[in-house]
Amino acid sequence: MNVNQSAPPVPPFGQPQPVYTGYHQSSYGGQPGSTAPPTPYGAYNGPVPGYQQTPLPGVSRAPPSSEAPPVSTAQAPCGQAAYGQFGQGDVQNGPSSTVQMQRFPGSQPFGSVPLAPVVSQPTVLQPYGPPPTSAQVTAQLAGMQIGGAVAPALPPVRLGYGPPTSLAPASGSYPNSGLYGSYPQGQAPPLSQAQGHLGAQPPQRSAPPQASGFTSPASGGPPMPSVTGPLLPGQGFGGPSVSQPNHVSSPPPQALPPGTQMTGPPGPPPPMHSSQQPGYQLQQNGSFGPARGPQPNYGSPYPGAPTFGSQPGPPQPLPPKRLDPDAIPSPQLNELPPQQKTRHRIDPDAIPSPIQVIEDDRNNRGSEPFVTGVRGQVPPLVTTNFLVKDQGNASPRYIRCTSYNIPCTSDMAKQAQVPLAAVIKPLARLPPEEASPYVVDHGESGPLRCNRCKAYMCPFMQFVEGGRRFQCCFCSCINDVPPQYFQHLDHTGKRVDAYDRPELSLGSYEFLATVDYCKNNKFPSPPAFIFMIDVSYNAIRSGLVRLLCEELKSLLDFLPREGGAEESAIRVGFVTYNKVLHFYNVKSSLAQPQMMVVSDVADMFVPLLDGFLVNVSESRAVITSLLDQIPEMFADTRETETVFAPVIQAGMEALKAAECAGKLFLFHTSLPIAEAPGKLKNRDDRKLINTDKEKTLFQPQTGAYQTLAKECVAQGCSVDLFLFPNQYVDVATLSVVPQLTGGSVYKYACFQVENDQERFLSDLRRDVQKVVGFDAVMRVRTSTGIRAVDFFGAFYMSNTTDVELAGLDGDKTVTVEFKHDDRLNEESGALLQCALLYTSCAGQRRLRIHNLALNCCTQLADLYRNCETDTLINYMAKFAYRGVLNSPVKTVRDTLITQCAQILACYRKNCASPSSAGQLILPECMKLLPVYLNCVLKSDVLQPGAEVTTDDRAYVRQLVTSMDVAETNVFFYPRLLPLTKSPIESATEPPAVRASEERLSNGDIYLLENGLNLFLWVGASVQQGVVQSLFSVSSFSQITSGLSVLPVLDNPLSKKVRGLIDSLRAQRSRYMKLIVVKQEDKLEMLFKHFLVEDKSLSGGASYVDFLCHMHKEIRQLLS
Ligand SMILES: [Zn+2]
Repeated sequence: MNVNQSAPPVPPFGQPQPVYTGYHQSSYGGQPGSTAPPTPYGAYNGPVPGYQQTPLPGVSRAPPSSEAPPVSTAQAPCGQAAYGQFGQGDVQNGPSSTVQMQRFPGSQPFGSVPLAPVVSQPTVLQPYGPPPTSAQVTAQLAGMQIGGAVAPALPPVRLGYGPPTSLAPASGSYPNSGLYGSYPQGQAPPLSQAQGHLGAQPPQRSAPPQASGFTSPASGGPPMPSVTGPLLPGQGFGGPSVSQPNHVSSPPPQALPPGTQMTGPPGPPPPMHSSQQPGYQLQQNGSFGPARGPQPNYGSPYPGAPTFGSQPGPPQPLPPKRLDPDAIPSPQLNELPPQQKTRHRIDPDAIPSPIQVIEDDRNNRGSEPFVTGVRGQVPPLVTTNFLVKDQGNASPRYIRCTSYNIPCTSDMAKQAQVPLAAVIKPLARLPPEEASPYVVDHGESGPLRCNRCKAYMCPFMQFVEGGRRFQCCFCSCINDVPPQYFQHLDHTGKRVDAYDRPELSLGSYEFLATVDYCKNNKFPSPPAFIFMIDVSYNAIRSGLVRLLCEELKSLLDFLPREGGAEESAIRVGFVTYNKVLHFYNVKSSLAQPQMMVVSDVADMFVPLLDGFLVNVSESRAVITSLLDQIPEMFADTRETETVFAPVIQAGMEALKAAECAGKLFLFHTSLPIAEAPGKLKNRDDRKLINTDKEKTLFQPQTGAYQTLAKECVAQGCSVDLFLFPNQYVDVATLSVVPQLTGGSVYKYACFQVENDQERFLSDLRRDVQKVVGFDAVMRVRTSTGIRAVDFFGAFYMSNTTDVELAGLDGDKTVTVEFKHDDRLNEESGALLQCALLYTSCAGQRRLRIHNLALNCCTQLADLYRNCETDTLINYMAKFAYRGVLNSPVKTVRDTLITQCAQILACYRKNCASPSSAGQLILPECMKLLPVYLNCVLKSDVLQPGAEVTTDDRAYVRQLVTSMDVAETNVFFYPRLLPLTKSPIESATEPPAVRASEERLSNGDIYLLENGLNLFLWVGASVQQGVVQSLFSVSSFSQITSGLSVLPVLDNPLSKKVRGLIDSLRAQRSRYMKLIVVKQEDKLEMLFKHFLVEDKSLSGGASYVDFLCHMHKEIRQLLS
């Protein structure tokens, strides 16, 4: 009996599976889809006092004709179904009892283990031949003092800085906005006025908006009593009103002291860090990250090590350029006391260039497809365009590893300190040329697995005894082959049907799951989407509610579909809220939608079942009518307070009542200060920056959201949060549920329709249409010798092995770290199998399997030759960003530096050819590690400038957690493209230049992007013709700084630039809003923040300085 029902009959699986066609809707149109005339909403036109005067929980406001269930039947929250009912080892992804989460005492990657004592190393450390010469970066480092070059303290200046959009828009949001409560720190917000007085004036809340909510006081400066009044025009407080790109952080405005000249690298960092922590002591326990055990004595491995990057020192001469470091080996200089060392100049062109590495890889590897048949192959870089042919290992689009050759022993691994990690994107989208994974149906018997370790059938399983049994490649257990799966072997021992079966010949494929893999042993219902819209004053006033409702009318036609399905199986529901919740009955048989108000937010329940979740096409007329009426109903609202946790609770309860998984789309504007569970206070306190308490800024202020998230995960309820804050909203707390449920957070500070419509709608469309797997569990199995010990990403874990994802979309990655628990074998290598059990958007239960085989080595050189720096950086950034939850950021930075130095010192000691100590020698595969690591170190989370808000940092922190390797690559090292250097006719993207001010020519125009932000920088001497062609103005001075849309002009240059912007946007998962920056304009400071090879205003080192520092660290380790 052939159970392989849906596997393609012939190799090599020629037909792409049309699995996710729903996603590629490009022709997203705008037809509302309903022809029903918008009829007035009789009962509810306007916020009828009545509806707010119904304090009784669950009172139905439905008209008599309503079919809503009587209130009394509204179910109280059901007893919490046991969390974890799902995810039982055997049923789901194998037993969980077999693996224990435990760190090896000796395997702390960040311990201060000096390299010298490692004598137990069995490997003969014969000097390995030198890497290609290009890898030998020789830099003269003596006397370089790093990170200390800071000018005399500059007064923090707050004026005149910030994008033009940061000025209050003409609509005048901030003046006279007595509506905004000011939320003095640590003080409970004023109680809102009694609801229901709708005719009344908006509550005249105490003070005018305090700037503290949006300002960015220079950290380290004194508290800022001066900025408590209303803001004056032009008084830049980095934030209000602006719709800056999500987390853009504008460097602080710096007035140069008289006589200071801005030459070379940008100006000195502000004095904040030093003055802030006099006598700051390193923490004795430098451990960070939940899974890390205590690591005594870490943190000060090198007494006297420079407090790199955070302690300003006296001004230093800028390094003059153009001196070949090779010409000055002079190691003897290092013997001099520091003050006598002269600063040697390093030619920036002589140090490893990201641009060159990217370019070389494109040239060398971009033309041939990457064929995955060979074990341990390092794939092309993420910046290279290449096609993948699956011949037995998962595509690098699904899994990338820090190294494709793993040390055989844990001793070796400890010596090298190279983290062993895989960045896994189980549902990654593929280019159209590559087939989606095949779906294999083994019928009632379900997927074939190893009896012992529960690994799934894969190409590495060995069939023996003429095909009657198979040996598990993960645990070596011998299993019987079920009769229906039996097949003969050929003379090589391979099954003769191997190429007919995806699970025997491909790295990635899917199995249809049987009922055993379903919750409560029942096949799932199709998932549901619930749109939950804040209709408080801010949301209405900014135009958000109207815009959103208008958009949803058409967007609902583009819900994800599966296969060739004509329409989506996903049902939808609608809730609006401020401090109470309004549910809507949009049953297709109704003439008009009906609203039900729940004001008892402390005990949330769903007042209706029937008619809440509906099929879009059946209920289209009612839905359209509702979406027409919502903005009208609340147009005159005076309610400024919101609840938050009860909204999520309500959505989750609704899914529970409907017995389905799903996603909540929350559109939320403010700190939830209304009396309700999950109520928050404004606890933002920038004085905590650079103190031991800084970590509290990243931690949620209440545990209530974790508890709620757990319930959501148990229900398969994922939460996507769209935030529209005008001031501090506590992203660190509000993002807990999205983070733990596999959701996404979007942030549009000071949202105004006219400025931010395009970005918001673009993100929304993509988010709603993207394919999501629901109610998922992911398990990573490994062959004997290594095991998964740590996980990073947006998910929840209730045990040490199962990654639970209420939802998982095609943009999200889970990063897994491995450790040795035994010796590995060079011959057999190491295997990974990632199994993701999930419910598809059509409600089908499936298992997606990715397999990857890696090499194992007994020579350290083999490890270093097969590393991937981009993936290493992805891992290290996630590790560090988690670390800030538990440790001071300085400790986290020092940890990264130490680890990096250890990695490179081990290479130098064991793999590089002998050379003078004055030479810095980097492994070819890691020659960009210092430059990229420096970018992580000076990122907003680890070294914030004065203008970066607490919310921005929390936001970026959680974003990076789920990023894939391509995203972290461009996020930390932005792409800078000169636009007028190459001929206009050239169809290809212009070659990038290094992210440094030195690379900018004032006669040129550049685009800079990092996946979230997009700048167009215009040099002051750009040709007039170019200015005319792009901006339709006659001179540079007439270009509007801060412009976010280029005029559509009919000339080749304009078309080319606009086309390039479109194509950059298409490559990224979030819409990047354009900001035009003119040279010498105040906005330029914002732009320069992204020139990451230069010294940063927040104290971050330049690339050259950091490299020198790195060398010094390495030499200390080696001496
Ligand atoms: Zn097994």
